[in-house]
Amino acid sequence: MSSSRPVILIVEDEPGIADTLQYALRTEGFEPRWCAGGEAALTQADDAALVILDVGLPDLNGFEVFKRLRAREPTLPILFLTARADEIDRVVGLELGADDYVTKPFSPRELVARVRTVLRRSAAPAAAAAAPSTAFALDDGKRAIHYYGQPLDLSRYEYGLLKTLIGRPGFVFTRERLLSLVWDDDTDSLDRTVDAHVKTLRAKLKTVAPSLEPIRTHRGAGYALAEDLPATLSGP
Ligand code: CA
Repeated sequence: MSSSRPVILIVEDEPGIADTLQYALRTEGFEPRWCAGGEAALTQADDAALVILDVGLPDLNGFEVFKRLRAREPTLPILFLTARADEIDRVVGLELGADDYVTKPFSPRELVARVRTVLRRSAAPAAAAAAPSTAFALDDGKRAIHYYGQPLDLSRYEYGLLKTLIGRPGFVFTRERLLSLVWDDDTDSLDRTVDAHVKTLRAKLKTVAPSLEPIRTHRGAGYALAEDLPATLSGP
């Protein structure tokens, strides 16, 4: 463990947002550094532990900055700030391979939590990936999922949803993304189709562990698997 504070580079052209972020990060033990444009970011990222990158920048757009940063530093964690649905789709589509994203408006507390998660994941990817498998066990050959040792009786779409969420703990999947990943033909399906299946899935998970909520709702964004599930169920 290093005693120095991790440098978090904030690339954001709106000073109000940058101020809020810097304050929240400093309070939580990070060393924030702010630049208001993409060109400046490219010269200031060298010792950063993580980059928070706005997509809409005045000079280079965030996607271009991302590509150039990653070309130089393939393992540098990058978290996007997005404001519009089309930006979110592109980030979530992960043609870019971003570590995570947060949609505006966001709460500083949520963003700092995401920063911690991404840093933890990038420091120990194997451990982070192994953690949720203690709660869930997937047997894709049998299309079966066990939850704390209990087999779940899942419909086809419930299975697809849960498998998708388990595959990337903490990552927020939009409803559109889930539709395209889980439903073969998403033309007839609607966002509320996803919501309805999440609801029945949650009810089935509750029968095993009534006090846990493994599927988190991220308002305005989508759903993610909780990363803080206990390894075993404690008694009632
Ligand atoms: Ca902007």
